[in-house]
Amino acid sequence: MHEMSIAMAVVGQVQEAAAKVGGVTAVTSVRLQVGELAGVVPDALAFCFELACAGTVLEGAELITESVPGRARCASCPDEWAVGTPPQLCCPACGQATAGLLSGRELQITSVRWEDGPARDRTREPVSEER
Ligand SMILES: [Zn+2]
Repeated sequence: MHEMSIAMAVVGQVQEAAAKVGGVTAVTSVRLQVGELAGVVPDALAFCFELACAGTVLEGAELITESVPGRARCASCPDEWAVGTPPQLCCPACGQATAGLLSGRELQITSVRWEDGPARDRTREPVSEER
């Protein structure tokens, strides 16, 4: 399943980042940018994410997905347009096929929130290099 491999990759990346910082006891949320054209079904991804988190430091973490609209540009004129769904891959101005997508294939973690042990009287940035 496509979503399962994405979920596992996301969990793997967060685990790696948490190990780097050290002392992370629980991950509370992961924010992920998902391009409209990345071919990801948000509900399926949320379900797979929950499975992939089980037994890891991410167990119980919330997955927040941000949808990134797809945009394409024309090969022969300066036009740019929103691709939408179903995707429109020909230029609305001149009818030429697209030269490529400007956005819409994103699949990246934008932020992670976690707890790092007993409550401290200061706030830490979620992704911090501080030791
Ligand atoms: Zn055009």
